[in-house]
Amino acid sequence: MGWFTRSDRQKVVAEKKEDVWVKCPSCSAHIFKEEWEKAFMVCPECNHHDRMTCDERLAMLLDKGSFEERYTKTTTSDPLKFADATGSYATKIETVKQQTGLLEAVKSGRGTVGGIKIVISVMDFRFIGGSLSSGAGEKIFLAACYAQRHVLPFVMVSTSGGARMQEGIISLMQMAKTCAGISRLHKFKIPYISILTDPTFGGVSASYALMGDVNMAEPGALIGFAGRRVIEQTIKEELPPDFQTAEYLLSHGFLDMIVKRAEMKDTLHKILLYSQK
Ligand SMILES: [Zn+2]
Repeated sequence: MGWFTRSDRQKVVAEKKEDVWVKCPSCSAHIFKEEWEKAFMVCPECNHHDRMTCDERLAMLLDKGSFEERYTKTTTSDPLKFADATGSYATKIETVKQQTGLLEAVKSGRGTVGGIKIVISVMDFRFIGGSLSSGAGEKIFLAACYAQRHVLPFVMVSTSGGARMQEGIISLMQMAKTCAGISRLHKFKIPYISILTDPTFGGVSASYALMGDVNMAEPGALIGFAGRRVIEQTIKEELPPDFQTAEYLLSHGFLDMIVKRAEMKDTLHKILLYSQK
């Protein structure tokens, strides 16, 4: 039975290895976990910006302990009682809620950046691909309304595959609703800063994510409406290799700036300071 013992031991060693090292999903370099987290999940070898959870993002952008979450009870709805071959939407939602500890793909609230008060919404890709549902749309809309009422800048951090199709037309309506909320900010000259992270697609890029007074993205983030393959099949042409990267979008006028994660908070603070003048 010796080999059972050995395989158990190997398992323990492997687990321990995982605790200490992180393998970069882009260049496969092994980075010390501590170093990886200190660099906000950015690979020191290839500058790959790995995905962050909404809590990690909030901790990175806001002053320590300043976040006050709002609309904590807003969650998903299931207007179509949707089910497909892989099961019901309701069951999927319950599983994701347990896995992530979130009630929706967005967290909204208020906090401070270098002492400046802001309202912030941050998406989380782990929650059904950061999809825009009625609950997610509501949390963004309410945050925009809050920013308007309190005359505070609104910062939006997006990561999303697009509208949540399981909620049908209700999810698509969130595009109009969120844009209406943000248009009011424009009307009252309240700054709206949009940060696009990898990936931002579909109804999200086609609505609030690209409506910022300043639209900034992280290096290498994929941003677009339809996916590359769909476009290639439709237009029957091969697209350039850097198509839909933040760098490509910047050079075509869709973005105002690309900001490294390590410089994101400082840049945001500078823009907020400037907008107060
Ligand atoms: Zn790397």
